[in-house]
Amino acid sequence: MTKRTLPYGRQQINQDDIAAVVSVLESDWLTQGPKVTEFEQSVAQSVGVTYAVAANSATSALHIACLALGVSTGSRVWVPAISFVASANCARYCGATVDFIDVDAQTGNLCVDALSEQLSQAQNKHCLPDVVIVVHLGGHSCQMPRLHELATTYGFRIIEDASHALGGSGWDQSIGNCYYSDITVFSFHPVKIATSAEGGMATTECEQLAHRMRLYANHGIEKNPKFFSQPSDGEWYYEQQCLGFNYRLSDLHAALGISQLGRLNWFVEQRNEWAIRYSQALACLPVTLVQPLKDTYSSWHLAMILCESAELKHRLFDVLRQHGIGAQVHYIPIHLQPYYQQLGFSPGYCPNAERFYQRVLSLPLYPGLTEDDFAYVMQQLQRGLDACA
Ligand SMILES: *Cc1c(COP(=O)(O)O)cnc(C)c1O
Repeated sequence: MTKRTLPYGRQQINQDDIAAVVSVLESDWLTQGPKVTEFEQSVAQSVGVTYAVAANSATSALHIACLALGVSTGSRVWVPAISFVASANCARYCGATVDFIDVDAQTGNLCVDALSEQLSQAQNKHCLPDVVIVVHLGGHSCQMPRLHELATTYGFRIIEDASHALGGSGWDQSIGNCYYSDITVFSFHPVKIATSAEGGMATTECEQLAHRMRLYANHGIEKNPKFFSQPSDGEWYYEQQCLGFNYRLSDLHAALGISQLGRLNWFVEQRNEWAIRYSQALACLPVTLVQPLKDTYSSWHLAMILCESAELKHRLFDVLRQHGIGAQVHYIPIHLQPYYQQLGFSPGYCPNAERFYQRVLSLPLYPGLTEDDFAYVMQQLQRGLDACA
């Protein structure tokens, strides 16, 4: 087969998406118009939650989620060791201390047993976390009922970083409805499940949290007289009540997001179909596809394979890249990043995460993948395995 160029993930854009963006360009509002509210309502309806607050990225949304929960200097926030760095950085923006939770060696997802052990030790030392950020790695839901139980026992709040998991569910609850958590955050970056080019969304069932997140996303500015702390001076009056940011999404981005949400079910179905194909095709090879837990429906953001050894992973990565396949590694354990090592973490801190990292590799998975693309990926993967045998 001729060489092709395949990323590990990419957006799917159609004429409706293009028309939606163009119509905003032709309207009066490029930003702060009606589209952002409509996007928020579409996401809220899609995941079955009361409040959705848009932001210009999931990173921003994670930051305002932490702020709304009162994370500040002196707070303790725990994060799984395998995720994108933004999952931990949001707590650092607030001045909090970050600690890492080890993951399940087979799935890379937060290990509830490890968390439980870490919590009981922290209780003895009087340093329980204020917030635990959980990440549905690759779209595969964490064990939310057990996490919720631990949150109740130990009194911490939960933020779900569901950047990978829009359209997924677990234990009869759709991810984002916040049945098991305080706030859920989604990303609309082009490699994620649905895109607004850049964009993020925070969902919650708590009116007060939604209100605070809105405030932090818009300079800390309150415009509703009902919430003023001083008497209004006239119609123009507004109050800056806290130090917020400009994390607003534009109407252009929102219009793309709304249009994409119309195909969310199709996106996730396509991803599930390709995941089944990978499972079948990989069954007789010495690599395994990371699978979601039973009782969950994954949005399959990533097709992560686990190789038998670090050597095999390196070899496969090289062969795939040489042949135009954008294999990628999700993720380098966050505590091994120089920034976090400077904060006191060192190799060996989360052994399962480090082992997972050595063996994991993501293959192309996205709605627009074709039969030919898939056959090409499998052919090159076989070539890499043969070269190692
Ligand atoms: C992509 C991603 C983010 C950041 O999303 P942006 O919208 O690019 O800011 C955060 N957490 C995880 C797990 C991600 O994959």
